[in-house]
Amino acid sequence: MLCPFCAHVEDKVVDSRESKEGDSIRRRRECLNCGRRFTSYERIDEIPYMVVKKDGRREAYDRNKVLAGLFRACEKRPISAAQLESIADQIEKVVQDSSDRELSASEIGKIIMRRLKALDKVAYVRFASVYLEFEDVTEFMSELKNLVRSRVPRPKAKRPKPKGNRKR
Ligand SMILES: [Zn+2]
Repeated sequence: MLCPFCAHVEDKVVDSRESKEGDSIRRRRECLNCGRRFTSYERIDEIPYMVVKKDGRREAYDRNKVLAGLFRACEKRPISAAQLESIADQIEKVVQDSSDRELSASEIGKIIMRRLKALDKVAYVRFASVYLEFEDVTEFMSELKNLVRSRVPRPKAKRPKPKGNRKR
């Protein structure tokens, strides 16, 4: 943060506390150049929502990452960008409603799977094959069997091949 005295950009935070209303964070900073102290206020809106990964690491929630995963799963499928945006909106809403400003990656994955399942079975299987690989293979296989069973047989209909779509 720009020092108001000497315009240096590096500082260290010496104290930080939430406002009484809980809607902002006040930080006391010390300029690393001139050593003078100043105060900054950050609104809660600007504090990132966190995603808790399976190994416990946290990273800032990134809408673009969610969209990138969706676009991968829906490549060449009859799903509009607006539909994918609406899924991302929904995820965002759930993250924002979470009490600790964080949500597990597996929770996010489950919401996406629910939405894709209703939208497009191929996209769903693609996403599930990437996502469930880390979760529970048995669950995925039984899910796949359910899908295959519920398919209306059509001539020349291609079966989704989840194994060929594994990325990473
Ligand atoms: Zn300074």
